[in-house]
Amino acid sequence: MAALEIYQFPCLSDNYGFLVHDAESGETACIDTPETAPILAALEKTGWTLTQIWNTHHHYDHAGNNEEIKRATGCTITGPAGEADKIPAIDRAVDDGDTVMLGAHEARILNVGGHTLGHIAYHMDGHAFVGDSLFALGCGRVFEGTMAQMWESLQKLTALPDGTQIYCAHEYTAGNAAFAVTIDPDNKALAKRVAEIAALRAADKPTVPTEIALERATNPFLRASDTNVQAHLNMSGAAAVDVFAEIRARKDSF
Ligand code: ZN
Ligand code: FE
Repeated sequence: MAALEIYQFPCLSDNYGFLVHDAESGETACIDTPETAPILAALEKTGWTLTQIWNTHHHYDHAGNNEEIKRATGCTITGPAGEADKIPAIDRAVDDGDTVMLGAHEARILNVGGHTLGHIAYHMDGHAFVGDSLFALGCGRVFEGTMAQMWESLQKLTALPDGTQIYCAHEYTAGNAAFAVTIDPDNKALAKRVAEIAALRAADKPTVPTEIALERATNPFLRASDTNVQAHLNMSGAAAVDVFAEIRARKDSF
């Protein structure tokens, strides 16, 4: 089976769009629909024909242009069952454990609710399209779910194998880095990464995709059980979910 090709491009002020292409079948999936013109331009540039939209959640910068893109391409739309009523023009609703095919490639659905209640991620061939659940050095704001639900969702992503590429929907990394060092100041891997991020952004290069082992080692939201993080927050021995909630609350007012 030929490897999937992925084309990443900026949308709006800080979103990323992604096209996933299987050359064997000729199928192409667009992850979310943040902005119509850049998606159509990406299709034009790659010469790929869009056959599917895969939505992660219902927010406007993720599903807001579904109808326009469907009208322009005739593609089908797969989205989260937990909020299917809010996904424009949805054809198929999926949830945890379901699979979606792109040619012979299978994407497994993970329910990563918390940012929104029904938020899903698509995991296939060492790539995970995670929307606004996990960010490089950050995680989504918990708008609809509970802290416990969000923490559980992040555990599913943490459990993905080393090497998994994480395609977050936003370029929030520089801001997340500035916050991360306030939570985990003695983490040498984090300090090294913060310098790398600054260099990438100074050169106007993306920090997405990121990689799950790097996130485990440096993302404060995944490190709520770490003894150094807990000690720094004066929460030694606390339940990880409570430490996570404290970190999330601090970030909300950072
Ligand atoms: Zn969102
Ligand atoms: Fe978003």
